[in-house]
Amino acid sequence: MSSQPPTRRRLLTLAAGTAAAPLAHGAASAHAATDAAPTAIAARGTSVVSVPAPPTWSVVPFALDRVALGNGVFRQKRDLMLEYARTYPADRILAVFRANAGLDTRGARPPGGWETSDGNLRGHYGGHFLTLVAQAYADTRELALKTKLDHLVGALGECQKALAQSGSPRPSHPGYLAAYPETQFILLESYTTYPTIWAPYYTCHKIMRGLLDAHTLAGNAEALEIVSKMGDWVHSRLGRLPKAQLERMWSIYIAGEYGGMNEVMTDLYALTGRAEHLAAARCFDNTALLDACAEDRDILDGRHANQHIPQFTGYLRMFDHTGEEEYAAAARNFWGMVAGPRTYSLGGTGQGEMFRARNAVAATLDDKNAETCATYNMLKLSRQLFFHEPDPAYMDYYERGLTNHILASRRDTRSTTSPLVTYFVGMGPGVVREYDNTGTCCGGTGMENHTKYQDSVYFRSADGSALYVNLYLASTLRWPERGLVIEQTSDYPAEGVRTLTFKEGSGLLDLKLRVPSWATAGFTVTVNGVRQRVVAEPGSYLTLSRDWQRGDRVSVSAPYRLRIEKALDDPTVQSVFHGPVLLVARSQEQAFRVFSFYKGFKLRGDLADVIRPDGRPMHFTTHGLTLAPFFVGDDTRYHAYFRRSEPVVVFGTADSGVPNRTRADGLTFLDVLWAQAPFETSARFVGAVRALADTWLSEGLFTRAERDRVVAAAVGANLRN
Ligand SMILES: [Zn+2]
Repeated sequence: MSSQPPTRRRLLTLAAGTAAAPLAHGAASAHAATDAAPTAIAARGTSVVSVPAPPTWSVVPFALDRVALGNGVFRQKRDLMLEYARTYPADRILAVFRANAGLDTRGARPPGGWETSDGNLRGHYGGHFLTLVAQAYADTRELALKTKLDHLVGALGECQKALAQSGSPRPSHPGYLAAYPETQFILLESYTTYPTIWAPYYTCHKIMRGLLDAHTLAGNAEALEIVSKMGDWVHSRLGRLPKAQLERMWSIYIAGEYGGMNEVMTDLYALTGRAEHLAAARCFDNTALLDACAEDRDILDGRHANQHIPQFTGYLRMFDHTGEEEYAAAARNFWGMVAGPRTYSLGGTGQGEMFRARNAVAATLDDKNAETCATYNMLKLSRQLFFHEPDPAYMDYYERGLTNHILASRRDTRSTTSPLVTYFVGMGPGVVREYDNTGTCCGGTGMENHTKYQDSVYFRSADGSALYVNLYLASTLRWPERGLVIEQTSDYPAEGVRTLTFKEGSGLLDLKLRVPSWATAGFTVTVNGVRQRVVAEPGSYLTLSRDWQRGDRVSVSAPYRLRIEKALDDPTVQSVFHGPVLLVARSQEQAFRVFSFYKGFKLRGDLADVIRPDGRPMHFTTHGLTLAPFFVGDDTRYHAYFRRSEPVVVFGTADSGVPNRTRADGLTFLDVLWAQAPFETSARFVGAVRALADTWLSEGLFTRAERDRVVAAAVGANLRN
C-alpha cells in the first residue's frame, strides 16, 4: 500500500469566528506565509519554530534543527529509528482513524499492540508517530518525510471533517478527532472505569501533540488548524463541567490519565492566543496532588508514575501563562520527590508502573522497574525546570537518564516493522531487556526519544548572552541570531577530550560549561591550548567569558573514575559506574552477584585495582564477570545492582580476622578508612588505620584485642601501588 501525497494544502484558517483574533505571537503567521509556498519549496524553506519562549524562562532551548548530531552511539540509535520513520507505512497509522470516521482504510492493517481496530487506546500511537516524523524531518530535512507528514496530517483533517458530518454512532461534536467514538469521553464524565474505557484524554494528548509538532517542527499549517479545532472541542466538553466533577475524573486510575493535556493546551494557547485554550488547560488541574506537591507533601507512594509526571510539565506551562506560583512550586517539589528518592541508578523510576515509598530502591528491584515512558517524561520535566531556574542538578539527572536509560532502551538492530524499544527496564538481578513495543505507550515515546537526542545538548540564556553546554555529545550548533556555528567533537559516552570549535562567527559570549557531579577526578579547560584557571566544582557550570573569534578552540577534559552508588535503603546493594556510564554485570544467574573490593585495594584506594579493563572500549571484568555499558542494546542477562560484601577487615593478603563492623550511619570500618584514600605512603596508611581503629575502640565497635589485630594487619600489609 503506497502512500499518496496530499492533493491540496490549506492556508492557516483558524476556527470560524476567531480568525480575526490576533495571534499571541508572530510565529504562527510566519508559518502561514511559509505554508502558502508550493510544497517542494516549502519543504526546503520551512524552518523549525518552537512554541514561543515565555518571559518566565531565563534559559531557552534551541530548535531541533539548529543542532546536528555528530558520529557516535547516539547517532547510531537515531539512525535506527529514522529508518523506521521512513519505512513504516502511513496508511497503517491512519487505518484506525479512517475506520472510525467511516472512510476507506485502503486495506491497511492497524499497527497492533494497543493500536488495534478495537483497542480502547487506539490513535495514541498515531499521535506519537506524527511527532516521530516531524522530529525526523526537522533533523534531516528529507522531502520524503515532509511528504509523509503532510499526508498524515491531511488524512487526519479528512477524518476530523467526516466525524463531524457522519460519525458513529452519531455525528461527533465539531473539532472532535480520535480513532474511536466520542463515547469514551462521555463515559468518563460519569466516572466509568478501565477497561470499559481506557484513557481518552491520554490519547487526545498524543494526537494533539503530534499535530502541534507537525506544525512547529515542520511548518504544516493545516496541523495547527486541526489541533486548534480539537482544542475548541476540549474546551466545549470540559469547560462546562463543575470543578468537582473534573477532579473526580482525574482521580480515576488509568481512565483519568490525561498525559500532558495541560501542557499541550498551553502550548496551543501560546500559538493561538485564544482564551478558551488556556481555560481548557486549567480544566486539567488535579488539585489533590497539585496542592500536596506545592506544599512539598510527598503522597506519591502507590500512585501511577507515568500518569502523573507529565501533569507537572503542564503545571509549569500553566505557571508561564498565569504567573500562579503554586504551579511552579508543585513542579519543583515533585521533581525532588522523584529524581532523588525514587530513582534507580539508570535514572528510571517506578515498579510495575507505580511510584513506591520514598527511598525504596533495593526493596523494589525486580523485572518491572523503570517504565521507559516515565523517564521520557522526567527528562521533559527536568529541562523545563532548567528553563525557569538553571540548577545544574536538573542536567545531572538529565545526563543520567539519557545516557543510561533512554540510550539503553533501543535495541542495536535494524527493524522497519517495530521500534524495538523497551517498556519496563528491570533492575533486579539477572533480568533481561525485551524490545518491541509496537503500539504501546513506551513504543510511542520510544519513537520520539531517539529522534531528539540533540534537543538538550545546548541551551542559551534568554537574552542571548550565554551559551550552556549541557551535554558533551558530538554535535554542531547553528545559532544564526548570533552568527555562530560551534562544532563539538566528542566520543561521549566514552571517556575523552571534548573540543568546542567556533567554526563561524565571533563576539562576546559567556560559555557555560557543565561540570558534571561525577567529575571528581578533575575538570580541566583549555582555550586555544592555554590552560584556564577556573574553579570547576562538580555539579556546577563554569563560565568562560570572552570575545570569541572564529577558530577558537575550547577543550574540556574530565577523566572518568570507577565509582559506586549505593541504594538509599540498603548500602550493600550497589551499582558501579565509569564516569557517567552505568556498567552492568553480565551473568545468567538470577540472584545477586556478591562482590568484595576492599581486599584488592592498593594505597591509592581506587576501584581500578579490582575492576580491570577487558580490552574492549568501556568494558571491564571483575569477579570473573564482564561489566558492560548498559547502553549496549542487546538481550543478555544483566545485573545493574550487586550485593557488596566486606565482612572482615582485610588489607591485601593481611587478614586481621576482625569483623568489619558498621557504625550508626551505616558505614563500615573499611568504608570510612578507604574514603580517606589515596594514601601517599604505607606509613600514612598505617597511621590512618590506627587512628580509625582507636575511634572504633572508643565507640565500642572494636575490643582492645581486635583494635590491635587490625593495626597489626595494616603494619604487615604491602599495598604499594
Ligand atoms: Zn510506557
